[in-house]
Amino acid sequence: MRFPIFKTKIKKITRKFNLTDPKERKAYFELKAGAEIKKIRNYLKHNTFIVYLLGKKNSGKGTYSKMFGEIVDPEKIEHFSIGDKIREVDKGFRNKEKKKELITFLEKTYRGFLTLNQAISSLKRRNTEGLLPTELILALVKREISKRKKKALFIDGFPRDLDQISYSLFFRDLIDYRDDPDIFILIDVPEAVINERIKWRRICPFCQTSRNLKLLPTSKIGYDQKSKEFYLICDNCRVKMVQKEGDGLGIKPIRERLKMDKKLIEKAFSLYGIPKILLRNSVPVKAAPKYVDDYEITPEYSYQWEAETKKVKIIEKPWRIFDDEGILSYSLLPPAIVVSLIKQMVEVLKL
Ligand SMILES: [Zn+2]
Repeated sequence: MRFPIFKTKIKKITRKFNLTDPKERKAYFELKAGAEIKKIRNYLKHNTFIVYLLGKKNSGKGTYSKMFGEIVDPEKIEHFSIGDKIREVDKGFRNKEKKKELITFLEKTYRGFLTLNQAISSLKRRNTEGLLPTELILALVKREISKRKKKALFIDGFPRDLDQISYSLFFRDLIDYRDDPDIFILIDVPEAVINERIKWRRICPFCQTSRNLKLLPTSKIGYDQKSKEFYLICDNCRVKMVQKEGDGLGIKPIRERLKMDKKLIEKAFSLYGIPKILLRNSVPVKAAPKYVDDYEITPEYSYQWEAETKKVKIIEKPWRIFDDEGILSYSLLPPAIVVSLIKQMVEVLKL
């Protein structure tokens, strides 16, 4: 299974964009996909769609779909994370009134092989990797969706295992989106990229903002002269950002999960009858000049301490990784991948 490289390079456009700056990003989207964005906006005036996001953990599912929503139409597009919803429902069970309302709803809608009580207790017992009965997930998701006005949905976290794929094929009927197109978005990200995203991730202890020491630094970098370590300073709170326990191990603790995710993507890739959008995060270094612009490539940052001026010098260069086949590659910045998402969406919807 190999995803094609998407060409975002347009010969006529020679100006560069700083894609971390929201204003420049807007201009970038306008130039590279303005016509397609308009088409999707028009479509959304009277129609919706349902997207299932399939990608490995930390592959950027949330980032891409939220950016798509922001650019195209935030009012009409919703990113829907099953994991978040289940945590919300879990909280709801601890509130007496909400619990009663939830149980009344489930008594009406839940069907499955476990009794309702067994299904609910699996919700309470679950650890982060534990799976819930599919029938319970379906009932809960249906409830959440029916609470909203009909919107285009990006569903993240479902299907989550192989037998849920078959359910997803009929899911739009179940939630009464019967005539709206449904689409699979498959995301291909090298494990080396996921590994470094986790390894260098830093979190603000106050506002929980997440950045990356190597790939997405804050505007101010600190230096600890004793330990000779550089650190990020939160742009909102001006405090030192820290590493979460376990993040230093990179993908090691989630290897099994990644394997399962890979199988899931392969299975979905081989499906007939449902349109697919293929998003590819990496581009071989050799092919890059033909397909993408330099500023669309993720840079990596390193730092030097200048003792005389007592300042941190920031060094930026293109980040190179080996993809899962061992090919030296670049990783694309999210906006470039969203351009390919927008253009493929127009094709899939036949606009
Ligand atoms: Zn903060």
